[in-house]
Amino acid sequence: MAKKIYFGTNLKMYKGNAEVVDYLTQLSQLSDTLPADKDLELFVIPSFTALSDAVAAVRSISSKHPIMIGAQNMNPHDCGQFTGDISPLMLKELGVRLVMIGHSERRHVFKETDQEENAKVLAALKHQFVTLLCVGETLEQKNYDISDEILRTQLKIGLHGVTPAQLPLLRIAYEPVWAIGTAGIPASADYADAKQAVIKQCLIELFGKEGNKIPVFYGGSVNPENAPELFVQPHIDGLFIGRSAWDAEKFYTLMSGL
Ligand code: PEP
Repeated sequence: MAKKIYFGTNLKMYKGNAEVVDYLTQLSQLSDTLPADKDLELFVIPSFTALSDAVAAVRSISSKHPIMIGAQNMNPHDCGQFTGDISPLMLKELGVRLVMIGHSERRHVFKETDQEENAKVLAALKHQFVTLLCVGETLEQKNYDISDEILRTQLKIGLHGVTPAQLPLLRIAYEPVWAIGTAGIPASADYADAKQAVIKQCLIELFGKEGNKIPVFYGGSVNPENAPELFVQPHIDGLFIGRSAWDAEKFYTLMSGL
């Protein structure tokens, strides 16, 4: 049986509202040309200001492979004195289906802790969002050879309190910090697969054999050249892509080649 394919992109603080709508319209039309029996979960995570129109855009196009819209962050509280933040209820009201938590830029630029990511994970699951927790080691941690411990810590704290019934909504993205963005060096397929095996082992320790069903994606300088080799690795269930997916045609070409 063909492997289920998970593809997603985080648009970060790029693309305004109109650009996001154009991008999604093009991507929906292109992904509709992929074979109907291709088992695909496709998601796009635009900035907050584009969410409302993004949801409307994907709803207005009937595609064989509908695109799920996600948010880049979320305050764990339903409401309160948190100026500048966005609550789960606000995202729900817009029709957002997925929430990304703990992207490396949230952890390292905005100094979010594992405990804060955990509160967000629990809130996102409580509100039944597809919940994408990002984990990954820095270059310094890699050089100290403590990547496995870092990943296990991020998972054990980040997922503390998650119940077995919530697991179908959970997704994990392994994104080594040193591999992300313009200064990033893509992880080799062997390295990425070895770390994803560590993640899967930890998920099994946390949740038993159901933990093995949680999809784990690789992200960090994925491009059309390295995508095929990454994709066939046994512990990589999907690709989470930045720059190489921000042009709808390029994203489609990358997806259709796998
Ligand atoms: C990211 O920032 O999550 C990411 C994967 O970016 P890129 O593919 O551009 O390295």
